[in-house]
Amino acid sequence: MKNNSIAVVGGGASGLVAAIYAARSGGNVTVLESGARVGRKILATGNGRCNMTNINAGIQNYHGNKPKFVLGAVNRFWVDETLDFFNGLGILTKTEEGGKVYPYSDQASAVLDVLRFAAEESGVKIVTDFEVKSVVKTNKSFKLTSYDGQTAAADKVIIATGGKAAPDLGSKGTGYEILKSFGHKITDLKPSLVQIKTETEVVKKIKGIKLMANAVLGKRSEYGEVLFTEYGLSGPAVFSLSPYICGQDVISLDIMPEYTNEQIYEMIFERIANRPKITLENFFVGMLNRRVGQALLKFAGAEPLSRYAVTLNEKEVLRICDTIKRWNFKIAGTMSWNNAQTTRGGALTDEFNPNTMQSKLVNGLYAVGEVLDIDGDCGGFNLQWAWSSGAMAGMAAADINE
Ligand SMILES: Cc1cc2nc3c(=O)[nH]c(=O)nc-3n(C[C@H](O)[C@H](O)[C@H](O)COP(=O)(O)OP(=O)(O)OC[C@H]3O[C@@H](n4cnc5c(N)ncnc54)[C@H](O)[C@@H]3O)c2cc1C
Repeated sequence: MKNNSIAVVGGGASGLVAAIYAARSGGNVTVLESGARVGRKILATGNGRCNMTNINAGIQNYHGNKPKFVLGAVNRFWVDETLDFFNGLGILTKTEEGGKVYPYSDQASAVLDVLRFAAEESGVKIVTDFEVKSVVKTNKSFKLTSYDGQTAAADKVIIATGGKAAPDLGSKGTGYEILKSFGHKITDLKPSLVQIKTETEVVKKIKGIKLMANAVLGKRSEYGEVLFTEYGLSGPAVFSLSPYICGQDVISLDIMPEYTNEQIYEMIFERIANRPKITLENFFVGMLNRRVGQALLKFAGAEPLSRYAVTLNEKEVLRICDTIKRWNFKIAGTMSWNNAQTTRGGALTDEFNPNTMQSKLVNGLYAVGEVLDIDGDCGGFNLQWAWSSGAMAGMAAADINE
């Protein structure tokens, strides 16, 4: 590699942006990607639509031993800069509920395409099927060796391997080993933004149904979409609580968070008065999803559902109200790394410069994106971190004075 050669290990969200910024800033950049193609995970984001950022993103949306590490990015390259960057590449965006930003075309593939075009235009060399096993510093430069014995050399190295979430999409956790070999500490790693497994008796019967609810886990609560699945609960509200299940037995849903217990109690008695001879099977039609209503009545012990509404007694109505406001699901764990969207934990951020992402232990070594001990909430925050940390590291690595 030529002067100020920069090897980016991993061609995902953070690696591609790091490569583009490094090349635009004068670096001689090569991306070493383990897969046959770059950016496979980007294609899977936002259910194929790519929730690329969130206009409300701030320090409050990030987690890790030291979430304040993100401030370096907030002050230097954040949402506005990201949107300018993507608009400049031709991505028209739209902002949806909760500040979530998507490409107007609703295609994650468009985001990957423009990154690939920009990398090519700025002279980035992309080498695929190169899974970096080790990085060793020799004198002033680095030697990179792949699992199958290929080698590369560079003056600077940006580790952009992602974490351990969704290994099928390329990120198997090898970045941690590389950073460890330089003496970096890796905090405990847990799957994050992942479905929660619960007792399946109830959820199985209403699988596929989505509703807006306030999900509560211990002292934390999260309002958002909840999806009932074969094995438990999914959806953004559940994802956000998933890192906190340790020590918790139950996750509960308030499926009518806009109403108080008292209001629901009155509503139910009004419904009974208006339709005394409706069967419980159809009692909640128009108020709740019919199947959810049936499952909830069974859960509250109001069977058989062939009964008339008028047969509900006060005690049963109170139990139904309670269930609507606090429907408890016994936790059986989380789904695995394969189903997680991100990793909680990673390379200890105290050992990196928050403005450049450069290692404080090894000159010329940088780490970006999910491999660092920073993870975001559900809603575009993780990609924002990948773009921001990538751009900052790319610019810094290309600076010959760094
Ligand atoms: C299904 C799914 C949906 C998601 N949706 C969203 C969303 O809509 N919005 C959002 O903000 N976030 C979303 N995320 C999270 C987001 O995709 C990640 O936080 C982000 O991609 C992390 O970027 P990264 O560059 O650090 O890692 P990655 O994007 O994982 O990229 C790492 C790259 O490095 C390569 N690699 C790994 N090890 C090596 C090695 N040793 N040598 C060479 N190459 C290597 C991998 O093949 C991969 O291409 C989603 C995640 C998943 C799994």
